[in-house]
Amino acid sequence: HLSVDNVSKTFGVGRTAKCVLEGISFEVNTGEFVALVGSSGSGKSTVMRLVAGLDRPTAGVITVDGQPVRGPGSDRGMVFQKYSLYPWLTAAQNVAFGMELQGLARREIRERTGYYLEVVGLGESARRLPRELSGGMQQRVAIARALAAQPKVLLLDEPFGALDLQIRESMQEFLHKLWQRTGLSALLITHDLEEALLLAQRVHIMAPRPGRIVRSVQVDLDHQNMAHLRVSPEFLS
Ligand code: ATP
Ligand code: MG
Repeated sequence: HLSVDNVSKTFGVGRTAKCVLEGISFEVNTGEFVALVGSSGSGKSTVMRLVAGLDRPTAGVITVDGQPVRGPGSDRGMVFQKYSLYPWLTAAQNVAFGMELQGLARREIRERTGYYLEVVGLGESARRLPRELSGGMQQRVAIARALAAQPKVLLLDEPFGALDLQIRESMQEFLHKLWQRTGLSALLITHDLEEALLLAQRVHIMAPRPGRIVRSVQVDLDHQNMAHLRVSPEFLS
């Protein structure tokens, strides 16, 4: 369970101070998929960096299962838009890398690596280098790496932003099925409202200057049928 409670972030001090986030509050319950949507500069990645523990809020509290976030930790798995994989490591080595940092036993690392590559449908590609994989496959390796640490919540910042439309759609479907199958908890950041509505049960819409949540939408599961979804105006009214 991730809780973001009244979080603000200001960069700089005095006359150059810039308030980037103001009073952000939301939660991700266990097994829930939540999306943050907003235009460029609305502070989405800043929220993600704070949740990841890569930076600290100026005010407010972020907790995972009641424990305050004080820095990066294996309870949160991250997937970014690009530069996610080490180019000189194979898919399997990339997946294993995070677990090695965690200090897991070699046998456990080997088992989880195989398992999570299967989960993302890349069991056959374990020995391939990132450049030998398509963009969508590379992001699946990045997702496998994040899942392999068995985080309490998966953090995704524009994970499909660099992919072309067709691959993007198949990745959305992949992630939706993965969520249904595994019951993972996820926080997705995207500027694509349609993507958010496809994948999340709860969507928070952010606006810039300062970054804040201006609207929250509970998504009707009936609307999440991939084949039928069109973003209808009632979601935005
Ligand atoms: P995008 O959709 O383009 O990724 P975003 O919603 O992720 O945008 P952020 O990257 O969180 O937006 O940035 C929000 C605002 O905070 C921007 O105005 C940005 O310039 C500012 N900002 C982010 N990091 C810093 C920093 N380290 N120092 C000063 N300003 C920053
Ligand atoms: Mg961003």
